[in-house]
Amino acid sequence: MSFGISCFECGRTVEDPFVDSCPTCGGRLTVDMDLGAIKERSPIELRSRPLGVWRYAPFLPVDATKAVSLQEGATPLYKCKALADLVKIKDVMVKFEGANPTGSFKDRGMTVGVSRAVELGCKIVGCASTGNTSASLAAYAAKARLGCVVLLPSGKVAAGKLAQAMFYGAKVVMIDGNFDDALKIIREMGAAGHLYVLNSINPFRPEGQKTIAFEVLDQLDFKVPDRIILPVGNAANIWAIYKGFVEWKEMGWIDRIPKMTGIQASGSAPIVRAFRSGQRDFVPEDNPETIATAIRIGNPASGKKALKAIYETGGTAIDVTDEEILAAQRLLGRLEGIGVEPASATSIAGLAKLREMGEIDGDERVVCVCTGHVLKDPDTVMRSCEAIIHSKADTSSVLRAIGA
Ligand SMILES: *Cc1c(COP(=O)(O)O)cnc(C)c1O
Ligand SMILES: [Zn+2]
Repeated sequence: MSFGISCFECGRTVEDPFVDSCPTCGGRLTVDMDLGAIKERSPIELRSRPLGVWRYAPFLPVDATKAVSLQEGATPLYKCKALADLVKIKDVMVKFEGANPTGSFKDRGMTVGVSRAVELGCKIVGCASTGNTSASLAAYAAKARLGCVVLLPSGKVAAGKLAQAMFYGAKVVMIDGNFDDALKIIREMGAAGHLYVLNSINPFRPEGQKTIAFEVLDQLDFKVPDRIILPVGNAANIWAIYKGFVEWKEMGWIDRIPKMTGIQASGSAPIVRAFRSGQRDFVPEDNPETIATAIRIGNPASGKKALKAIYETGGTAIDVTDEEILAAQRLLGRLEGIGVEPASATSIAGLAKLREMGEIDGDERVVCVCTGHVLKDPDTVMRSCEAIIHSKADTSSVLRAIGA
């Protein structure tokens, strides 16, 4: 558990634990784990701890004995035969992150981020959020008995997420603006010392999220999949998972890294546009719009990190329309019994589209990361499904109603 913090852009070491970006160039920060200090000689040795984020404690930059944990991680890796047959790909798996304590992968980053906040002696934590970050932070702040402030874009937060943030006792503030505006404000509040910011620009969040890579490898008995597909919003998760693979490659525990493949919604796709024109930086989108509210982000804070993960692994990035997202969401539910929120369904929509485009080979082994639970956004689901049938309360009426 020996580590340093440095700037992703200029490489300078950063000492102040309370800055959220490089004091010299403003770049994103990263945690550099001292992998030489890890004593395990193989990933098998980690298996003495239960599957989940904290199995990988030697790779995490906080004291695991004092972790603020709700037993996050250990999510299912489903083998999806019917889906694989449909899209004509040999092996399709879904890493179902909706099975985390608050129903999204955000819990993996929050267990590490809130543990760090406690180590630093912080009393109030905060975040800007499209919903899931606030739900997760509120729960972990409750567990750690910290004050919690969340900033949300008004009118654009799915009901389940909003209910969670309120339920766990956060101060919930809706701003008259979008996520990008909210992030700017919370960072200003953090810089002024009002709270400790736990958005994914905080480099301790991706440290927890990189355990998605470790778990997938663990669940596949250390056989490396060919490709990882996931939604890209603020763009930290694709970087985090990439970082996990890189660390195990540096340990000599795996010999290659899957193609990191990012999917965005068409109305909110700055990373896809940058990738198409071969750029390492992106042009923000002023008015991002999509039904997949978790990725309705025009100025992804970790966009450059995401592009690096994609380029370095020979991956790709495409966008999918809201119609394709909703169709993929229903398909995954009806074909595999897996319920994911719209943003998560972009992985499946992207899988199908990339296969059609010939970008994905039929003999690939693909893992789609489905980031959040279907119950997060019940309104969208109910609007996109067949209408409810109403009937009088007698058997023959019900039989007539169902067309029997
Ligand atoms: C946060 C989130 C994303 C986007 O992850 P980034 O790290 O911001 O790219 C995707 N799906 C769901 C369900 C999320 O909560
Ligand atoms: Zn810098």
